[in-house]
Amino acid sequence: MALSGIEIYKLLPKTNCKDCGVPTCMAFAMKLASGQAELSQCPHVSAESKAKLSTAAAPPIRTVTIGAGEKAVKVGGETVQFRHEKTFYNPTGIALRITDIEPEAQVQAKLENFSRNEYDRVGLKLKADLVLVDCESGKADQFQARVEKVAGATGAPLILRAADPEVLKAGLARIGDRKALIGPATAENRQAMAELAKSKSLPLLVQGKDLDSLIELSSELQAAGLNDLVLDTGTRILGKAFEEQVIIRRAAIAQQNKSLGFPTVVFPCLMTKDLRKEALYGSVFIAKYAGIVVLSDVPGEVLFPLLLERMNIFTDPQRPMATSPGIYEINNPAADSPVLITANFSLTYFIVSGEVENSKLPAWLIVLNTEGLSVVTAWAAGKFSADGIAAYVKKCGIDQKAPNKRLVIPGMVSGLSGELEEELPGWKIIIGPREAQHITPFLKEMK
Ligand code: SF4
Repeated sequence: MALSGIEIYKLLPKTNCKDCGVPTCMAFAMKLASGQAELSQCPHVSAESKAKLSTAAAPPIRTVTIGAGEKAVKVGGETVQFRHEKTFYNPTGIALRITDIEPEAQVQAKLENFSRNEYDRVGLKLKADLVLVDCESGKADQFQARVEKVAGATGAPLILRAADPEVLKAGLARIGDRKALIGPATAENRQAMAELAKSKSLPLLVQGKDLDSLIELSSELQAAGLNDLVLDTGTRILGKAFEEQVIIRRAAIAQQNKSLGFPTVVFPCLMTKDLRKEALYGSVFIAKYAGIVVLSDVPGEVLFPLLLERMNIFTDPQRPMATSPGIYEINNPAADSPVLITANFSLTYFIVSGEVENSKLPAWLIVLNTEGLSVVTAWAAGKFSADGIAAYVKKCGIDQKAPNKRLVIPGMVSGLSGELEEELPGWKIIIGPREAQHITPFLKEMK
């Protein structure tokens, strides 16, 4: 249960030394209670208090790490039911399912989709995260061969799924120390699965027959000392599965239900045979509230919209989405190509860069740091001003790349042109279109 500000205050040193950057311990306690500060900001808190506060500060849904090293994926760790209450932290993992009875060529094609379909957006790399290998043959050697193939083809974190713990062991023997998620632990095999997960310190997938049996299993496994669980209600029907995801999230957050305080896995790939429907179902569970969504294939037309949806849901609603400031080259610009400037609000950047790209004409695009504000908002806030633009143009080195010095400013801020001419001697300031859709004809005229 989360502690109140007063309860936290009682555990702090109460010296008001200000080393945490806050004037008093009481103020720091209030910030900690509201999630606006980290306990590590107070260097004087005792080990005993730290232990108590850390436990109290643990998220109601446990964070589970799958995989090792840089590619490890974290799921769960959520603290709120609705994104606008604070933010969601760990994006839903998107997993590709491969079975051990699929033809070799099909597996190859799926793995190629998995590796190839990667996208750059807002300075982030977007891609599917995990590969799940499912044992449908029931044969240890067949499962092992498929696991070996998948593990050799991708460095992505793995989920190994087989009802028989002995079959799982055969698969695990081929992946070294990659810290796979294993399972499913069910009412039938729970003891052997628990022992296997415990002996190898691996997270465990738990599958119930319904919500009640899942709660029972989860409690039992926790009592046996397993803390890293991922929950599968076993439901393969869209409506019921959706309802269960909402119930689980609400129970974990609002009622602090410890048996349900874990990330979940949902299988749209087992709910329909139509890949387009699967993508739609996946989008439902990315929004509410799957820790992992498992798909049967990840071609671009399925994956890309899901990645964008996920990116939008798992950004901090209190911070505008921003693109990295800098000089962007579009359509191989040369020394005599025009230089356009815009704000670093992501949407603005994508619209402007997209229009320039579509024009097929080469240009340099300077993205100014406006702290994620759009051109007009940034201009009104003094963050897209003549002196700010001039200072960045001088320092970013664009004059070396584009010595013709033609700077196109957005038509919305045409009033800055006079001041910019004074601030940037030698540059020709050109007023661009007010709307991005007019960029192509504008650039053609400039040519
Ligand atoms: Fe209090 Fe710790 Fe902040 Fe000092 S650093 S004021 S002891 S909370």
